[in-house]
Amino acid sequence: MAGDGIAPAIGIDLGTTYSCVGVWRNGQVEIIPNDQGNRTMPSCVSFSDTGRFIGEGAKNQLSINPTHTIYDSKRLIGRRFNDAKLQEDMKLWPFEIIKGSSGIPKIVVDYNGEKREFFPEEISSMVLMKLKDVAEAYLGDTVIDAVITVPAYFDDSQRQATKDAGYVAGLNVLQIINEPTSAAIAYGFDMSTNITRGTNVLIFDLGGGTFDVSLVTIDVNGTFRVNAVAGDTNLGGQDFDNVMVEHFVKQFNEKHRTDMSGNVKALSRLKVACEKAKRILSSTTETTIEIDALHQGVDFSMRITRAKFEYLNEDFFTNCVQMVDSCLCDAGFNKRDIDEVVLVGGSTRIPKVQQLLKDFFDGKELSKKINPDEAVAYGAAVLAAKLSGESSPQVSNFELNDIVPLSLGVALYDTSLSVIVKRNAKKPLTRQANYTTAEDNQSAILFNVYQGQRTRAIDNNWLGEFTVAVPVAPKGTSQVKVVFDIDDDGILNCSGEEVTTGLTKKVRIGHDKQRLSKADIKKMVQDAQRYKIEDEEFKEKTSARSDLEDYIYKLKNKIKSIRSKIRSEDIEKMENAIEDVRRQILHGMKLAEVKEYTTKSDLLASICVPILARYP
Ligand code: ADP
Ligand code: MG
Repeated sequence: MAGDGIAPAIGIDLGTTYSCVGVWRNGQVEIIPNDQGNRTMPSCVSFSDTGRFIGEGAKNQLSINPTHTIYDSKRLIGRRFNDAKLQEDMKLWPFEIIKGSSGIPKIVVDYNGEKREFFPEEISSMVLMKLKDVAEAYLGDTVIDAVITVPAYFDDSQRQATKDAGYVAGLNVLQIINEPTSAAIAYGFDMSTNITRGTNVLIFDLGGGTFDVSLVTIDVNGTFRVNAVAGDTNLGGQDFDNVMVEHFVKQFNEKHRTDMSGNVKALSRLKVACEKAKRILSSTTETTIEIDALHQGVDFSMRITRAKFEYLNEDFFTNCVQMVDSCLCDAGFNKRDIDEVVLVGGSTRIPKVQQLLKDFFDGKELSKKINPDEAVAYGAAVLAAKLSGESSPQVSNFELNDIVPLSLGVALYDTSLSVIVKRNAKKPLTRQANYTTAEDNQSAILFNVYQGQRTRAIDNNWLGEFTVAVPVAPKGTSQVKVVFDIDDDGILNCSGEEVTTGLTKKVRIGHDKQRLSKADIKKMVQDAQRYKIEDEEFKEKTSARSDLEDYIYKLKNKIKSIRSKIRSEDIEKMENAIEDVRRQILHGMKLAEVKEYTTKSDLLASICVPILARYP
């Protein structure tokens, strides 16, 4: 439990499939093991009538309770319901997603006998809260400050939503940092890598749901300069699992002349098995998946070779390497300029991915010096220490120069995107551009703000809009200066200023149309507290129940050991009492109140103890 003190700031890698937390202590980074002893935790939350599970407990529910076990919230966060990629993903998720107010997706589950709707931020905040608890148990103090990582390719709304999730979890988010940059810091801090000159490091991070490439130069003086980033926030191990599931569903349907595509539970069980098989195929060349009574009582048993797995995912894999090429182009680098290619993320264990990457770099050995599962949290922990004033030279000397991943601009009258901030520009930054009226007698100019690389404004990600009033005049006369300001988190603030008359009037835009309102967030914070209390109650009830079960077990053993000595009516009296208790409150899954368990335990004691006392 957390003590009275305040713990040092932590670094959190909030992954799509796994999360990890680290802290700088005693002159080094410690990756914090959770209550199961694991150094990473599934980013998964499961709901049932008997409580909420987060992490391993939730992942175990995937094949038993698929419709109320939520994973991939990172693929939902900061996106709009109508987003094409989200619609694609939705076809494969066993849980229900609805369109919430303002077009924000919501996840619907049954929880404690009620239908509840959650924003993706809320699910992520539950994972964050669990990590906070894990860190508090380890450090013995209350954790407040944290650095949270996001894919370099996350856009403005995804970053803001992640920050909101941190807030709801009760964390003060010191900074949002890009995952590959964080991994580069871990690489730079690794003692075994002696940096004697500027080193160009290509970070290749292929995880469960996202793919990031980042070209970072580490200078001798400890500056980490990001030159370019590329990636896809919807590409990762989950996609490889899904492709395998599709393949097997097709084969199973053909072989057994059936259609299992609507059987949610069977699909979830198959997905869990495919993910395991995929991991096995990273070290062996073939494996067999066996699942009892998968669909309509039919057992599933099929073989898959590594070659087949590679064939099924060929497009994904080549796409990854192409993105490396485009990242190098953007930075104006040649592949020979790269000193180290560093692998991060669980999916970089796939031999084919490694081979394609090695081939691309003309046979260069890939660096596996850093732990691919922990590097991101490691770097975040270093930054967290620096931002909280850690004075050791190792930490305080390092500098970070990061960039924005996608261009930002406003839609012009002719529907094209007028770029104000170009992608790969160094952040934090401020840029401005002037716009004039396009029609006679306009009284205001409406600006729609977009982020992305497409020429047509609407093909990009819409972030919000704002209007600036201007003096009524012939077209082209009135002018507005638009200022874009991007902070260290990569989050945008914009303002418009009417400059024609010299009367400057600043208008700030929030992203209220796209994002959660203050009231939504306030409610989420309150709910989070309530769920935490419910979790505690659930824990107390299960522990009271197991105490009672324990007590019964001991009583039965005792009766057994002295059975021959006791009168049969005494045995009957005790056994009947035990059976009654079992039937009344130990039957089924439903939990009773703590008091009921203790009362029953007292009742059994009052009946059995006096009898047993007679037979010492
Ligand atoms: P994220 O950061 O997106 O949460 P991780 O970096 O933790 O993801 O990687 C998780 C992904 O890596 C999962 O899709 C998992 O199946 C995959 N993975 C882990 N180990 C292996 C392996 N040995 N072979 C192939 N894939 C693996
Ligand atoms: Mg990751």
